[in-house]
Amino acid sequence: MRTPLIAGNWKMNGSVALINEFGQAFSAAVSPTSVDVVIIPPFPYLDAARHAFEGTVLSLGAQTLNPIHSGAHTGEVSGRMLKEFAVSYVLVGHSERRQLYKESDEQIFARLLAALSVDITPILCVGESLEERDAGRTMDVVLRQVGYVMSRLEPDQRKQVVIAYEPVWAIGTGRTATPEQAQDVIAGIRAYQAGFDKGLAEQLRLLYGGSMNASNAAELLAQPDIDGGLVGGASLKIDDFYAICQSA
Ligand code: PEP
Repeated sequence: MRTPLIAGNWKMNGSVALINEFGQAFSAAVSPTSVDVVIIPPFPYLDAARHAFEGTVLSLGAQTLNPIHSGAHTGEVSGRMLKEFAVSYVLVGHSERRQLYKESDEQIFARLLAALSVDITPILCVGESLEERDAGRTMDVVLRQVGYVMSRLEPDQRKQVVIAYEPVWAIGTGRTATPEQAQDVIAGIRAYQAGFDKGLAEQLRLLYGGSMNASNAAELLAQPDIDGGLVGGASLKIDDFYAICQSA
């Protein structure tokens, strides 16, 4: 059985005060334990989070990493550095990085390899734009993004990847994919993986992301192939995020 995973991507939001509030709200005594819960704050909050999340069910994630370990790359942060702050997950290929920072599949793959090299679980984000969906190209786009990365990995590396299907038109728009739309694409990703390795396909954790909130999470998470959520806006509100974790 796949353990559900709920990851909260704070993007460029939050504060040390909010980190501390999450640490208090998610104490191990009161939180759901049958689900892995990750908070992904901006870099400057990682140290505060590492302390505030001690003894809670919360793990720590980062929003990106540089493909190399160290060097003359002003403004960048490496996987090795993240590891020192107890980071166990990192986003790669988020649509905001693909669009705003023009990250290519090749760069995304390099970042993902860097994460694996320091034993941080990469959450690979994939998803189509509205134009691509309207043109009937959703599966082509998504499987190309997934295939670019997964086909270049060794079998034991593939097992360590989490994939989040995030339709670009649903991110931060308040417009969620229907549970059927999300299930169809995510089942397609699993079937694609099963073409190479059935055992791996069964183990792979596949998330949905895109305007998931306390009201729609239960229905999305009830779909057979959806193993959790990547949550943006709603992960900044303790009650909503807590409710999503309870639905998983
Ligand atoms: C995201 O940023 O990955 C995301 C899914 O955002 P939102 O939940 O706000 O749509």
